[in-house]
Amino acid sequence: MSNSGRAQGMLPGLAIGVAFLAAGVGGFLVGSLTGSPEPASATEAVPAASASPTASSAPSSSAPLPTPSDDAYVAALDDSLQMGSETLAEGQSGRSDANLADGDVEILNWVETDDPVFFITIDDGLVDSPAVREVIERYQIPVTAFLTEYAVRDKTDYFEAVTAYGGSVQNHTMVHGALNDPATDVEWEICETQDRFEKQFGYRPWMMRPPYGAGPDDPEVLKYAEQCGINRIVLWNVVVTDDNEVEYWEPPIKAGDIVLLHWVDGLDKGLEMLLELGEAQGLTPAPLEDYI
Ligand SMILES: [Zn+2]
Repeated sequence: MSNSGRAQGMLPGLAIGVAFLAAGVGGFLVGSLTGSPEPASATEAVPAASASPTASSAPSSSAPLPTPSDDAYVAALDDSLQMGSETLAEGQSGRSDANLADGDVEILNWVETDDPVFFITIDDGLVDSPAVREVIERYQIPVTAFLTEYAVRDKTDYFEAVTAYGGSVQNHTMVHGALNDPATDVEWEICETQDRFEKQFGYRPWMMRPPYGAGPDDPEVLKYAEQCGINRIVLWNVVVTDDNEVEYWEPPIKAGDIVLLHWVDGLDKGLEMLLELGEAQGLTPAPLEDYI
């Protein structure tokens, strides 16, 4: 497809993506807090982060927390964060313009390629299921794991194993704070994760996925992403839900699509289904790392 043709075709999707970004300012979390008992108050429930370093640690921390990460901040986010809640719409659905940002940080929700490939990205890291690992190993699936540091502190071996087929561990923040929420400590969420994952996994992430897809082009997000070594902010345009239902902007799955899943029980079945859906279109999963 020509660039001009694609640009015209993208307009509806881009417009909706922008609408969601705009909605995020006023109450983004309302639409994303599936199952939350008090979605409307979620943003207010997060107090301002302390700017002063503290000796306290986050729950179940296996290492001291050196920067603003006092218990109140983490505990408050723990109450409001909803891992596993990203939806299709929040990924700037469809095939939005490939680069919405100025400067060196690119924001994308699909990859322009003629190769018969799609990309598997799996978020958060709450569940480290042996059945999922077995499926990934059996099919040697390239997985880009956008991990929340808070969720994976004791799971280094697991996430090294499941990203061993061309994939990688990438940044999904420290405690899953919405980066467009004024109460969120954006620098800490992005940069502390970079430092921690470099120690934990032996390399520094270069991709970041903002929780809930919130605030990808926020100037503060772009500033700290660039400052701390991120050059790709990766959204998505296909979702496999935690119930293993597929949400497309426009079915079927297509070359270059970025599929979002979460590390949950049942992911093994979701991955097998996804491979079959791809195969039906002549597509195989490829490492996102090789294309962006
Ligand atoms: Zn997430």
